[in-house]
Amino acid sequence: METIRATAEGAVSVHAKETRAFGTEAAADALKPLNIRRRNPGPHDVEIEIQFCGVCHSDLHTARNEWHSTVYPCVPGHEIVGKIVAVGNHVTKFKVGDVAGVGCMVDSCRECEYCKDGLEQYCGEGNIGTYNSPDKYLGTQTYGGYSESIVVDEAFVLRVPENLDLAATAPLLCAGITTYSPLKHWNVGPGKKVGIVGIGGLGHMAVKLAKAMGAEVIVFTTSAGKADDAKRLGADDVVLSSDEQQMTKYRGKLHFVLDAVSAQHDINLYLSLLKVDGSLALVGAPENPLPVAAFSLIPYRRNFAGSMIGGIAETQEMLDFCGQHNIVSDIEMISIQQINEAYERLLKGDVKYRFVIDMATIKQ
Ligand code: NAP
Ligand code: ZN
Ligand code: ZN
Repeated sequence: METIRATAEGAVSVHAKETRAFGTEAAADALKPLNIRRRNPGPHDVEIEIQFCGVCHSDLHTARNEWHSTVYPCVPGHEIVGKIVAVGNHVTKFKVGDVAGVGCMVDSCRECEYCKDGLEQYCGEGNIGTYNSPDKYLGTQTYGGYSESIVVDEAFVLRVPENLDLAATAPLLCAGITTYSPLKHWNVGPGKKVGIVGIGGLGHMAVKLAKAMGAEVIVFTTSAGKADDAKRLGADDVVLSSDEQQMTKYRGKLHFVLDAVSAQHDINLYLSLLKVDGSLALVGAPENPLPVAAFSLIPYRRNFAGSMIGGIAETQEMLDFCGQHNIVSDIEMISIQQINEAYERLLKGDVKYRFVIDMATIKQ
């Protein structure tokens, strides 16, 4: 199939093929089968047959336009692993048959100070997201991993450690790197007391990673049912955040807090856990602002920060770290036909701890 597209350089012809996907055409609609186009691999591209795709809460936020920036149709999915089925003639990192991963980005300007520093996620021109970003090849939006295949420049494709279970590796591509990057940035390691807030897909990875980095890990959860499990994941202690008494135990005691909560919550409660000069980094991205009291920050010279996914080299570093430490996600496998039900369960915190879609089911 050939598409003629107008660009600044004139009309260009792009060969593309029809590809089965699951997505939505409006914020209030359920996800359903859609046909999208994928470009034929160019010289630097690889084509990946998608085997598994994790279900991130960002998929749900985006499908439902909770961040007010979704362009429809929207095909979510940015925790992608699969097999390479075609490579362009300048591809050097991969060959047909290799297993590979794609996370939250498929491109960036590659020239700005941040891209040159391996911080493509903060690209001055804006990174190109795996979904819901402009697709410079086809003139549509980019479409994510709830699909049978994807074509990506090899510079944004990751090598996946062979010793890890492939389906359980998929969530590392977003949940893994989004927690690894801030834990590294804020020097989490031996001698550090770290709080992890919200034990969902991101939070449970943060517990495993912070523990593997050598820190003392305290989990803060709203779910009594996750308390026992948190210790299995590696937590040294667990606090039920609805219990005021328990919340006082770590007040002013933690070096770093990573907040991975997807919904409204009182951020001041968690800022109060920090020691002098401690930092709280938000990775959770609730729809509405979180009010911060001046006196949650001033008395202990506390820092309130945010962090977004991670760069490509850092994502590879995280995957290799997980390979060395045998770290994968705890997953519940679903078919693509169960995706709408999975979103409802995700909203209730009813998953231990990441849904992963068996993408072979898209052929049913
Ligand atoms: P998730 O699996 O749904 O986990 C969110 C967790 O937040 C829940 O398991 C729950 O943990 C807690 N929670 C939910 N509602 C709550 C409420 N009303 N009050 C307090 N706690 C609540 O989501 P996820 O996929 O891990 O993503 C988490 C957030 O990170 C989302 O907003 C997502 O969009 C964002 N995200 C950001 C980045 C980034 O680059 N910064 C990347 C990926 C995702 P407990 O049951 O333990 O309380
Ligand atoms: Zn994500
Ligand atoms: Zn850039």
